[in-house]
Amino acid sequence: MTSPVLQSPHHNRIAAIHPEVTAWRRDLHAHPEIGFEEVRTAGIVAQKLRQFGVDEVIEGIAQTGVVGIIRGRGEGEMIGLRADMDALPMHERAQVEHRSTRDGKMHACGHDGHTAMLLGAAKLLAENRDFSGSVAVIFQPAEEGGGGGRVMVEEGLFERAPCRSVWGLHNFPGVPLGSFAALDGGTMAGIDYFDITIRGQGGHAGVPHEATDTVLAAAHLVTAIPSISARNVPPHETVTIGVAKLRGADAHVIMPEEAAIGGSLRWFDEEARALAERRLRKLATRIAESFDCEAVIDYRRLYPATINPPREAVLAAEAAAALVGGDNVIRSHAPCMAGEDFSFMLNERPGHYIWMGVDAPDHVSGRLHYPDYDFNDAAIPYGIGYWLALVERLLPRST
Ligand SMILES: [Zn+2]
Ligand SMILES: [Zn+2]
Repeated sequence: MTSPVLQSPHHNRIAAIHPEVTAWRRDLHAHPEIGFEEVRTAGIVAQKLRQFGVDEVIEGIAQTGVVGIIRGRGEGEMIGLRADMDALPMHERAQVEHRSTRDGKMHACGHDGHTAMLLGAAKLLAENRDFSGSVAVIFQPAEEGGGGGRVMVEEGLFERAPCRSVWGLHNFPGVPLGSFAALDGGTMAGIDYFDITIRGQGGHAGVPHEATDTVLAAAHLVTAIPSISARNVPPHETVTIGVAKLRGADAHVIMPEEAAIGGSLRWFDEEARALAERRLRKLATRIAESFDCEAVIDYRRLYPATINPPREAVLAAEAAAALVGGDNVIRSHAPCMAGEDFSFMLNERPGHYIWMGVDAPDHVSGRLHYPDYDFNDAAIPYGIGYWLALVERLLPRST
C-alpha cells in the first residue's frame, strides 16, 4: 500500500511516541470498561497526565470523567479537546493478541484509540508548550448511550475548564487512512427513544369478542409509524423512525392485557423532530382508542443532533489540511445517522466533530460496533497530529 501523507512539523516527535501510544491503546483494549464504570481507564489517564506534568488534573466529573489542563507559554484562551473512554457490552470475536480479557465487554467503537491518541497529544503538548492560552484535554465516560457528555456539562465541565471552544474526533470507517472529513452542519443524528404500551382487556384466544385485542392495535401502530417520515416530515428533512421491539403474550392462546412496542427516531432538525413526536403520539393514542384500548407513551430524548457550525468546520478543515494536505480533507459527505453525545458539549460551546479516516487495505476489522472490530493503530499519528495541528491553528504562539 502507498503511505498516506503526514505533513506535521512534529512528525518525528509523533513517530517517536507511536509505539508507546500503541501499547497504551492495546492495554485499554484488553481491559474494556462500559459507561460510568471506566475506573481503571480513568485512573490510567489521570496518572499519565500527572506524569506528563500537566498543570491541573480534575477527576470525578461525571463519576469517571477526567480533565487535564495544560498551560501554554503565552496569554490566551482555553480550548477543549475531547475523547471518549467507554467500551460496549459485546463479546469480542477477533483473535488479536490484545483481545478483551473481560467477557461481554469490548472496545468496538475505537474509544480505546481516541483515549490513547489524546493522551499522546497531551504528552507532546505538555513537553514543549509551544502555544498561547491553555488546552483542556477532556476524557469523558459513557458515550455509548449513557450520555456522559451531558453529565460532564451538567457537573460544570465548562466552569471548571472554561473553554472558549470544544473539539471532538471519531475514527470513521469509510474514510481512508490519511484522510479526514470535516463537515458543515448536521454530522451525527439526534436520537430519541420511544416505548409504547397498548393496554386493554385481556382474555382467551377462543373468546376474542369478550376482550380487546392489544396485539392487533399494536400491529396497526407498527404499520402506521413509517407514514410519519414518509408523509408528514417534509421530504427535504431527514427523519428516520422505526420499531425494533415488539412484545405480546407469552403463549399462543392468550390475548394479553398489554402489548408493547419500542423503537427510535433519528433526526437533524428540531422542528422536524417535534413534528414526528407529535404525530407518533397522535397515531398511538388514536389507533389504540379505535381498538378500545389505551396507549401509554414513554418518549425520551436521548442525544441532540451534532451540528457542526460552519466557521469552526473551516478551522478544523484547515488544521487537518496542514497535516494531510487539502486533497485529503473531505468537506462534503452524507451525515451519519448514529448519535453522539459530543452534541451536548457543542450545544454549549462552538467547535467541531471531525471524522478521522482509518480504512486501509491491510486493516480489515473496521466496522464500528461489530464483534471483530479493532481500532487501526496506523491511525494514531494522524489523531495526535490533528490535535497538535488544531492547537497550532487556534492558539498560535505569536498572538
Ligand atoms: Zn459507538
Ligand atoms: Zn464511538
